[in-house]
Amino acid sequence: MAATPDLMSTIVSLCKRRGFIFQSSEIYGGLNSCWDYGPLGVELKRNVKEAWWRSMITNRRDIVGIDASILMHPKVWESSGHLAGFTDPLVDCKKCKSRFRADHLENTDKCPKCGGEFTEVRKFNLMFKTFMGPVEDQSATVFMRPETAQGIFVNFLNVQQSARLKPPFGIGQIGKSFRNEITPGNFTYRTREFEQMEMEFFVPPSEDMQWYEYWKNFRLNWYVNYGIKPDKLRLREHAKDELAHYAKGCADVEYEFPFGWSELEGIANRTDFDLKAHSEGSGKSLAYFDEETKQHYFPYVIEPAAGADRATLAFLVDSYDVEGEGKDARTVLRFHPSLAPIKAAVLPLVKRDGMPEKAEKIYNDLLDNSIKSFYDLNSAIGRRYARQDEAGTPFCITVDSQSLEDDTVTLRERDSREQIRVASSQIVDVISKKLKDSRK
Ligand code: ATP
Repeated sequence: MAATPDLMSTIVSLCKRRGFIFQSSEIYGGLNSCWDYGPLGVELKRNVKEAWWRSMITNRRDIVGIDASILMHPKVWESSGHLAGFTDPLVDCKKCKSRFRADHLENTDKCPKCGGEFTEVRKFNLMFKTFMGPVEDQSATVFMRPETAQGIFVNFLNVQQSARLKPPFGIGQIGKSFRNEITPGNFTYRTREFEQMEMEFFVPPSEDMQWYEYWKNFRLNWYVNYGIKPDKLRLREHAKDELAHYAKGCADVEYEFPFGWSELEGIANRTDFDLKAHSEGSGKSLAYFDEETKQHYFPYVIEPAAGADRATLAFLVDSYDVEGEGKDARTVLRFHPSLAPIKAAVLPLVKRDGMPEKAEKIYNDLLDNSIKSFYDLNSAIGRRYARQDEAGTPFCITVDSQSLEDDTVTLRERDSREQIRVASSQIVDVISKKLKDSRK
């Protein structure tokens, strides 16, 4: 479906109506840029994170995971450069008081809202501060982490030695990060509290560029494997003047949202900057000791850093489709089966003749096999199918009058609407197999 200017608002209202995403604290008027995932949204986002974890950690011999704390020693942010340099350029309009990120403005002379003049550009640190313990003074200041990566760097030797790893190897983690963004917006695309899926891959310095190429392709393909249309994805290599001072290369995986091409993930060659900076800052060397050469060295780091919320939003937008027109139109979320919040819906055709009992049994069997399912007894079957299409449920199982005769059920596939008959004793196996086959 073509991206119309309205597509985002259609998706935002579908998300609220169906229970994917709600505004945070809505009954109090909401809190700017904060969102809550509802019953369908939380399943979708969990599935996105699980798909990432499976492909990056579970299925690989060279990567392990960690779960570091959000609050860290304040010196971490001094050494990493965040205290001094994690800033965005901020300008205010003198007339209408609107606030902008100067680097996001096409014309930095005039306010795009009212044409007014801007204040001088100021640097604004994006880290949220809070206090640890009961006394609110300078020495108690701690920061909410603005990225998960630093929890990996400071644990580099702990992980390497306890898991007995040898470069090239990676450490990944998924967790919340916080940035006091100047201009959050575009629904869940840019928020002040969000979840990241980051992996730091430590390599011998001479192998950095080959691994950089490897991870760019691997990560781009991950989105394609989980159903994003390839023509809506691109890799954008950063120009030299866009690179962080320590980075040797950086490329963004971008998706064409209705609001334009925007970053989903950044893949960076961070060199040995972080391990060296923390060695200097802490006074404890984070150099790796190579048993073969009997020498210490600082590995280079290739970092694919993705956002769980941005990926979830991309999967939502990309899966949205409307088939047909007018009265016959149907809205379908064509999620990859692994990502779909509900895998199967069980629908007795009518509320009598033993159909609900038969359907209940299938529903229980699916749940017992950890297949997230939904039971729906109410309204005409066409409406029930439509509700499931709109939630992105890949399979519907209908118990009808033939089921009472030969103990088969109808299995309807969401995208093709094809219907086949399956023995009810086989249905759990058939769905499990379809789900497994679709998984990468
Ligand atoms: P942007 O340029 O959009 O501000 P960034 O380049 O600063 O992003 P990184 O520091 O590379 O982002 O963070 C890695 C990933 O974390 C991003 O690609 C994005 O998916 C996610 N992310 C970063 N900031 C936010 C945010 N404010 N809201 C949601 N996700 C975010």
